[in-house]
Amino acid sequence: MNNQEIIEVGGKYVMNTYGRLPMALVKGEGVKVWDADGNEYLDFIAGLAVNSLGHCHPAVTEAIARQACALMHCSNIYWIEPQVKLARLLAENSDLDKVFFCNSGAEANEGAIKLARKYAKQHLGSGKYEIITALNSFHGRTLAAITATGQAKYQQGLEPLPAGFKYVPFGNIEALKEAVGPHTCAVMLEPVQGEGGVNLAAQEYWNQVQELCSEEGLLLILDEVQCGLGRTGKFLAYMHYGLKPDIVTLAKALGGGFPIGAMMAVEKVASAFQPGDHAATFGGNPLASAAALAAMNTMLNEGIILNAEKVGNYFKHKLTELAAKYPVISEVRGLGLMLGAQLTVPGADIVSYCQQKGLLINCANGNVLRFIPPLIITESDVDKVVNLLDEALGKIEKRV
Ligand code: PMP
Repeated sequence: MNNQEIIEVGGKYVMNTYGRLPMALVKGEGVKVWDADGNEYLDFIAGLAVNSLGHCHPAVTEAIARQACALMHCSNIYWIEPQVKLARLLAENSDLDKVFFCNSGAEANEGAIKLARKYAKQHLGSGKYEIITALNSFHGRTLAAITATGQAKYQQGLEPLPAGFKYVPFGNIEALKEAVGPHTCAVMLEPVQGEGGVNLAAQEYWNQVQELCSEEGLLLILDEVQCGLGRTGKFLAYMHYGLKPDIVTLAKALGGGFPIGAMMAVEKVASAFQPGDHAATFGGNPLASAAALAAMNTMLNEGIILNAEKVGNYFKHKLTELAAKYPVISEVRGLGLMLGAQLTVPGADIVSYCQQKGLLINCANGNVLRFIPPLIITESDVDKVVNLLDEALGKIEKRV
């Protein structure tokens, strides 16, 4: 099928939940993807931060093929070798002790919310269930996850929402302190907000968040679904700030392109779950775990995270130069290869100009150009992208 044929069948039979671009991708390799008409693109979206190793990394595809021939699925009523190895690898490379595996970011956050409530009942006393999250945050599309999400647009029309969530501006410690009440059991934050437009908070804010949590006995839950796993130039983004979270959620890049999510916790908190308390049929199945184990071994052992830091710094520097040339870029921000360029105008035209010229980028919140490419990109890939952006911004600048 060509692009047009796929789009027609999709329009007829696939539920209309996504604002899709008019193209269908059929192949990917490294930082490149191809559509059904044979057009080639440089992919600076990476499946929305999923394809961090690039598309179809051989270590991942070989692990999947090997595991698919051995055992694809059993049940979590048995132990699974690739799953336990993956749990050990994640624990050894973080400050968390135990892992619950699931299939997506939203499901990881659901698990985190349930675990926090269970822990609170057992250790903090009854009546503690409330979780404070940040405005502009994004935690997924299930009911509890949209309720944790601090953006009304994801919640509208879906009421009644689960009770027990409160929102405060991200980065404002006074607002957070004021929001803590008798029912509060946890604070849930993204170390770098992704969907909200690549927003960072100051080191001093994080120091005080950590202090507040220990003083008030609150759990610190960090959603690393988008910013985690090498993207910001550290294995987990909280490591930039020296935080000690109680619960961390992961998904996206974890499986190297294969769907898998994880909710990690420190021992004391993890033990609030007992057999029968939580489950997912497909969570950590042999195939997903084998893919993730290969992906994470590659991520950790092949200089990928260092590359994200190094090329990310170069890219940020180049974007800052563009900002000096074009006043429509009011700010460049981000860490590693999670970068955003805040525009004073909508970004849709720039995104579609780039797409026509063979570059996939994305716009968060309508006016933040978001760059979340595979972490294997080179400085020469960045140069190509910056040249194209220069062209696109030149055209925009003439109009404003
Ligand atoms: N948390 C964050 C920070 C995310 O960016 C996303 C997805 N954009 C999610 C959770 C939800 O992940 P999923 O789509 O896998 O449910």
